[in-house]
Amino acid sequence: MVVTPGLRPALGVASECAPLVKTGGLADVAGALPAALARQGWGLRTLIPGYPGVLAALPRAREVAQVPDMFGGPARVLASHAAGLDLLVLDAPHLFDRPGTPYWDASGRDWPDNDARFAALSWMAARIAGGGLAGWRPEVVHLHDWQAGLAAVYLRELATGVPCLMTVHNMAFHGLTGAGRLMALRLPDHGFHPEGFEFFGHINALKAGLVWADAVSTVSPTYARELMRPEFGMGLDGVVRARAADMSGILNGIDTEVWNPATDPHLARPFTTPRGKAANRRALLAEFALTDGGGPVCAVVSRLSEQKGLDLLLQAAPVLTDRGGRLILLGAGDRGLENAWLAAASDGVAVRIGYDEGLSHRIYAGADAILVPSRFEPCGLTQLYALRYGAVPVVALTGGLADTVIDANEAALRAGVATGLTVHPLSAETLAHALQRLCDLYADAPVWSRLRANGMKAPVGWEASAPAYGALYSRLAQAARARDTAAP
Ligand code: ADP
Repeated sequence: MVVTPGLRPALGVASECAPLVKTGGLADVAGALPAALARQGWGLRTLIPGYPGVLAALPRAREVAQVPDMFGGPARVLASHAAGLDLLVLDAPHLFDRPGTPYWDASGRDWPDNDARFAALSWMAARIAGGGLAGWRPEVVHLHDWQAGLAAVYLRELATGVPCLMTVHNMAFHGLTGAGRLMALRLPDHGFHPEGFEFFGHINALKAGLVWADAVSTVSPTYARELMRPEFGMGLDGVVRARAADMSGILNGIDTEVWNPATDPHLARPFTTPRGKAANRRALLAEFALTDGGGPVCAVVSRLSEQKGLDLLLQAAPVLTDRGGRLILLGAGDRGLENAWLAAASDGVAVRIGYDEGLSHRIYAGADAILVPSRFEPCGLTQLYALRYGAVPVVALTGGLADTVIDANEAALRAGVATGLTVHPLSAETLAHALQRLCDLYADAPVWSRLRANGMKAPVGWEASAPAYGALYSRLAQAARARDTAAP
């Protein structure tokens, strides 16, 4: 059953994976990593939950394992290929066969049994690592975010001997549940203490991953440093500091095949140069029924949450529209923010509430600038799509945003390396100032065109990061082998 001959077997575990199921950047990364790692000699299979949309997209999936009691009901593991991915799907109808997003019901409330749903995913990963699939065992397991965090504990409890890497895509989500759930989640009592997965009297799945994993990574070097500080650590900065020796920051890349302005099927007019954006810009204004005010067309594609700083952008926006700029927002999430943005819609501001993958591509292609004023941002992908599609990113100087955008200050402009604008410290006032600067740069045609051209040339793929992950996998596998050999 080794699906990709010649490649070393590894198992990825994620609650979402593009293009099958996506609510944010985690899905893009889980979907892009396997191809990037194949070039490093690793054959990554990805275990995801069998949500209705996933099962519907994989009609020819075949059963490779059965589990009679998967946290309250029977389950199967299905194997399938789709979109270049080698997938293992946990088909557990009592946990995953329901409408809504992977995490919430239709009214936006977390499913009450999310702890069991993702504990089941994590437990299955450990079972597979322990030999649960005939003929295939991974050398390394790669866990993504809290939904996979408990796998680090189960891998030890089941004595699989297989090492794991825990990657934090967002420290804000812990996967907390009550202490009374220990037995239901098949967790050992001996782990429930402050140096284990206990967190102020609760079980914390992310902390379990941080403490038990053989190595920890996050999605940018700056976020790796930020996580050690109380302002960013979300109560787990001490845990991260304790694991500093095993911690790395590996920048996310984007899938440059899927996100290629020259071949993008979502665009009426694919393009290869900044100049080629003009038709997409016109089409975008028309799609949002906006007129061209002569200033930059700015856009946001984002989850609407406190993290993203879009309340500050609402305050700063008049600066842009006063100068003939336009502002487009595509997003969904927090109801208060949705309503505030809908109320701000005007001749210069257009708002689309919802999730629309195709429209997001057309926005990156048509916009002059993409705005990302996040309060914190582990890596951020929208600024990378912006660079690739010749839209100038305007970003807060935090996390991966700081690692991927070079501010158009005088020195960087002179050196010809600027790719965007950075804002620090972040406030409505500094953001307004950045929008003024953006309008000034936009009005200076030669400077603007260099800025866009630099962005389109910026390295946004996996060229640097895939080898870093590959080396980390190899190190973990080697250390585990050495432990095995040393064992009596
Ligand atoms: P996060 O993971 O915190 O949501 P990222 O910037 O890492 O932020 O990734 C966001 C991803 O989700 C990008 O691919 C972005 O294009 C996409 N996205 C966010 N909101 C929407 C939306 N409303 N419609 C379409 N795509 C969206």
